[in-house]
Amino acid sequence: MSVADTFPTLTRPGAPLVPRLVKRLGVGAARAGWPARAADLLFVLGLALLAPTAVALDTLYLDESADRYPLGASFQILQDPSHAIDIEELVRGDADAGFETSGQAVPNFGFTQSTVWFRARLSNDSGTRRWLLHTSYPLIDDLTVYLVGPEGLRSTYYAGEVLPAKQGGDVAPRYTVELDLGGEDAITLYVRTRTANAHMVPLTLWKPMAFIDYTNGVRFLLGIYFGVAVAMLIYNLMLYLSVRDTAYLYYVGFMFCFAVLMLSVNGLATEYLWPGSLWWSDRVIPFSIAFAVMTGIQFTRRLLETRVNLKTGDTLLRSLLLLGLMFVPLSLLLGMGPAVSIAAGLGLSAALTLFGCAWASWRAGVTVAPLYLLAWGAFLLGCIAYALLAFGVLPANFLTEYAIQIGSAMEVLLLSFVLAYRIKLLKEENERVQREATETLETRVIDRTEELNRALEQLSAANEQLALLSEEDKLTGAKNRHYFDARFDEAWRNAERGGNAISLLLIDIDHFKLINDRHGHLIGDQVLREVAAAVRAVLVRSTDVLVRFGGEEFIVMLPHAELEGALEVAQRVKAQIEQVSMHSTGEQLTVRVSIGIASTRPAPGEEPVQLIEQADAALYRAKQTGRNRIVIFEQASVVCEDDATRLVSHA
Ligand code: GH3
Ligand code: MG
Ligand code: MG
Repeated sequence: MSVADTFPTLTRPGAPLVPRLVKRLGVGAARAGWPARAADLLFVLGLALLAPTAVALDTLYLDESADRYPLGASFQILQDPSHAIDIEELVRGDADAGFETSGQAVPNFGFTQSTVWFRARLSNDSGTRRWLLHTSYPLIDDLTVYLVGPEGLRSTYYAGEVLPAKQGGDVAPRYTVELDLGGEDAITLYVRTRTANAHMVPLTLWKPMAFIDYTNGVRFLLGIYFGVAVAMLIYNLMLYLSVRDTAYLYYVGFMFCFAVLMLSVNGLATEYLWPGSLWWSDRVIPFSIAFAVMTGIQFTRRLLETRVNLKTGDTLLRSLLLLGLMFVPLSLLLGMGPAVSIAAGLGLSAALTLFGCAWASWRAGVTVAPLYLLAWGAFLLGCIAYALLAFGVLPANFLTEYAIQIGSAMEVLLLSFVLAYRIKLLKEENERVQREATETLETRVIDRTEELNRALEQLSAANEQLALLSEEDKLTGAKNRHYFDARFDEAWRNAERGGNAISLLLIDIDHFKLINDRHGHLIGDQVLREVAAAVRAVLVRSTDVLVRFGGEEFIVMLPHAELEGALEVAQRVKAQIEQVSMHSTGEQLTVRVSIGIASTRPAPGEEPVQLIEQADAALYRAKQTGRNRIVIFEQASVVCEDDATRLVSHA
C-alpha cells in the first residue's frame, strides 16, 4: 500500500494544494526519490491535519495524471442498522440527510452489524473509460456497487464473498469490480457493504494496468512471507525429526495454524485452497486461531520449561489450553461473527499470558527467555496493532493492515533462532557436564596419586628401616650374620675379579662367660656394646665391615687388605679393646680378646667359606695357646710339616 493509499484524505478538492502533491506522491512515486517523497509526506501530513471537512458531496475528478484514487475520504457514509434502505430510495434522494462525510482514509466501523452505504461523485476526465474498484480487505461478506447517472441507476455490480447468482446482475470476481465510467456527465458511485467481520472498507479506483502492477507487488510480498513461513516450517520439522524434541513439533504446528490463519485473512486460502467451500471459509479463521493458541501454548511450555521454572504461569497456560480445546467445537458451530470475536479474545489473552510468562521467565533467569520475549513481543505488537485497527482505533495503513504479517514474520525468524540457540545451549550444557566430570575425575586421580605416593614414601622409609633392621645386630649396632653372608660372597667375587686380597679378623672375647656369671647378663651386654664400639673406632675404610658373628664373637671383613694390613688392624683393635674401662660393683672390668686372622687373594676354585674356616682355626689356636693374642693363619708356601697349613702365632 502506498502513501496515497494511506492518506487519501488529500484527494478532496476542498484542499486545493493537496491534489498536486498527491499526484507527485502517487503517480510520481516511481520517479521521485525516497527523501523527496518523505519530505512531501511530512508536508502533506501537516496539511491533512488542517484540511476542513466539507458537508456537501464534492466531486472527485479523475484525470490522466493519476493511476489510482483511494476513495476513503471522498466518500459520504450512511449507516443503516435496519437494513431497510435500498438504492431506489437513495437515487430519489430520500436519505440524503443521513449521509455524513467520511473523514477516514479507510472507513472503519469495528464489529458493526449495520449495512453501510458509501457514495462519491466522480467526474472522469482521464480518457480511460474502464476503471477497477478494488477493496484490499477480503472479509467483506457482501459488497454491492451501483453507478447512478443523471438519468438514474445505470448499473449494478456485486463483489463479495456472498456469491450473487441469485441476486442477478454482473458478477465480479473477488473484491474487484470493473466499472464503466464513460460518458460526459458526473456519475455517483454507491457502495453497499455488510460483514460479520471487522467492518472496514479500503476502496480504491484503479486504472487496470496499474492495478495489475499493484497486485503483482502485493502477491510478491505475500509470496516472500509465506515462502519464509514454509521454509521455517520444513526447517523446524527437520529439526524435530533429528532432535526429537516435541518443542519443535509444537512450533511446527503453531506455524502451520498461523500460516492457514494468515492465508485466510488475506483471502488467499479461499481463493486457492478451498474455493468452493463457503462453510469452511467462514469457520477456518476462529478454528485456526484456536489451534494456533493451543500449539503456541504447548510450544512455550516446552521451551521455557514453565512446569519447573514458573509454576503459576504454567497453571494459567494450562487453563488457557483447556479453553482453547473447548472453543474448537464452538468455532465450528457458531456463526462467523461471534466465533471470530471469541477467537480474537482468546488469541489476545493467550498472547498476553505468553508474553507475561516470557517476562517472568526472563526475571527468573531462563536463558532463552529474552530472545523468546523479543520474538513474542514483535508478534504481540503486530496483533495489538491489527486488533486496534479492527476495532477502528488505529487508522488503516501498510503497517497496521499487515501488522500481523510483519510481526509474525519477525517472530517466526526469531523463534527459529531461539530453537537453534537452544540446541547450542544444550550442547554447551552437555560439554560443561562432561568437562566437570573429567575435571572431577582428574582431581580425584591426582588426589589418589598423591595419597599413593605418600603411602609409597612411607612404605619405602619403612622398608629402609626394615632392611637396616634386618642387616643390623640390635644390641651392638654391628652388621648381623645375614648381612655378612651376602656381602662376603660379593666382596670375595670382587677380589677374585680384581685380583685383590681380602682378609678376615675373627674376634672372640676371652672368658666372657665369667663376666656374665659374675656381673650379670646386662653388664655382659654392655661389654659387647663397648667391644663393638672399640672395633668400629679403629676401622677407617668405608669398605671395612664389623659383623657380630654370634654370641661374643665378632668378625671384621677387610676387602683390599693384605695380610700385613690385616695384622695392623688386628693389633689396633686389640689395643683399643684393652682401653675399654668398665666398673661393676666397685670392680674394674678387664676385657681381653683373642683374634684369628686369615687373608688370601681368591683364586679360581677357592671357596669363601675356606677363609672363614682358616680364621676360625687361627682363633682356635689363639685360645689354645693362652688367649689374649693374635694368630695368623698362613698358607704353606715354602716348607711345611704337613704340607697343608701353618699357623704362626704373634704375641
Ligand atoms: P673363652 O675364653 O674360651 O672364649 O671362654 P668364654 O667363656 O668366653 O666362652 P664360652 O663360649 O664358654 O662362653 C660364651 C658365653 O657368652 C656364653 C653365653 O652365655 C655368653 N653370651 C652369648 N651371647 C651373649 C649375649 O648376647 N649377652 C650376654 N650377656 N652374654 C652372651
Ligand atoms: Mg666364644
Ligand atoms: Mg669367649
